[in-house]
Amino acid sequence: MDSEQLREYAHQMVDFIADYYKNIENHPVLSQVQPGYLRELLPETAPIHPEALEDVLSDVQSKIFPGVTHWQSPNFFAYYPSNSSIAGFLGEMLSAGINMVGFSWITSPAATELEMIVLDWLAKALNLPDDFLSTGLGGGVIQGTASEAVLVVLLAARDKVLRSIGKDALGKLVVYSSDQTHSALQKACQIAGIHPENCRVLKTDSCDDYALSPKALSEAITHDLSVGLVPFFLCATVGTTSSTAVDPLLALAKIAKDNGIWLHVDAAYAGSSCICPEFRHYLDGVEEADSFNMNAHKWFLTNFDCSALWVKDRSALILSLSTNPEFLKNKASERNLVVDYKDWQIPLGRRFRSLKLWMVLRLYGLENLQAYIRNHIKLAGLFEELVNQDSRFEIVAPRKFSLVCFRLLHQQDDDSANKVNHDLLDAVNATGRIYISHTVLSNKYTLRFAVGAPLTEEKHVVDAWKILQDEASTLLRSL
Ligand code: PLP
Repeated sequence: MDSEQLREYAHQMVDFIADYYKNIENHPVLSQVQPGYLRELLPETAPIHPEALEDVLSDVQSKIFPGVTHWQSPNFFAYYPSNSSIAGFLGEMLSAGINMVGFSWITSPAATELEMIVLDWLAKALNLPDDFLSTGLGGGVIQGTASEAVLVVLLAARDKVLRSIGKDALGKLVVYSSDQTHSALQKACQIAGIHPENCRVLKTDSCDDYALSPKALSEAITHDLSVGLVPFFLCATVGTTSSTAVDPLLALAKIAKDNGIWLHVDAAYAGSSCICPEFRHYLDGVEEADSFNMNAHKWFLTNFDCSALWVKDRSALILSLSTNPEFLKNKASERNLVVDYKDWQIPLGRRFRSLKLWMVLRLYGLENLQAYIRNHIKLAGLFEELVNQDSRFEIVAPRKFSLVCFRLLHQQDDDSANKVNHDLLDAVNATGRIYISHTVLSNKYTLRFAVGAPLTEEKHVVDAWKILQDEASTLLRSL
């Protein structure tokens, strides 16, 4: 590693990335390439001799960028956002520069200690109960994704119950969620060996705004108990992926507590908004949860990946996930003086991810982060208003955060209405000018417009609506 060469190359790279952001709107938001496009453009084997950085960057422009979907474009309104920011970027850069592997405290004490401190800061900003702080029996840990977060707590909950009723009861364990819960839970159940027939996916509907019904949960638990099964895990969601539904945590938590069920709250997207006092009520009831997760890499200006998970009982995680091979033994761990995050996650190795979250919190401050979230919610409100003003469209689910679920009305049968909306989505995305995604709610093909890219301003939302209206007019004329 030659420091002077690093300086020179890194400056060039920063210039390249800064220009990328400056010109980001010139690229089609959704990549328009065909599968396999890149193989035709790149050589079959790696170069024997070194090549110049300029040549590589020129290939990035001409060959890689066409195959990139530009998540940071101000015209990206699909899925949920995945924010980058200057602070997040600098934190990533520093982490890459230090490039340590912080699986145990001893391998880089600052990495573990900063992670504990920063997650305590964030827990306080979210007004989480003290039980989630590292100063008690719980604590926070950065996972790569919400999927990893739900997997590790499911394993902890599974092993906790099996320790008390015996390993042979695995086939009797039951997991509860709603039909709006993210598929990450299903994957976690597959990995954790939960019998597929014991995964209760409770139906939601538009009358409850697609939130999990406490009554349906109670009934399912009562039935399962009556046939000798063992309810042990409930995943509630604050801000579901399809429509931002919020499950009623208070009521669900009471049922979970009464039945000794581990309650995990997945607030992967909407959790960020709860740093604003006016949205914090969506988390009421989290006091009774066993674990809570939000993705700082979604809507909190922290570059991917950074999924914050808090647990009340860290020993449950550690009992499930710890190993203690000879080659990792050290005095600090042996004396139980430190946290070794390798025992809170699936992999051994881990990056210094807290640096970027620390940078985001310090360089922006909670005040600016709140303003950032509020602005997106305001822009989503504006989009919703525009939809409401056009009688050809309808809003499909109530808006709580920065996602608007809507569709084009069509007088024919359900199938043709769904097809029209499917065609509208394709037409809009084929323009390359904006990117939106879809879901299905109550059998209705629904368009999702999620505001959340850091560069999005009012003009982008207004222009996006105009594109949608124009494409809808063209489509309707062609029918
Ligand atoms: N949970 C919810 C509510 C989500 O919206 C998502 C993704 O959008 C996930 C979980 C999965 O997130 P990840 O990609 O971090 O696993």
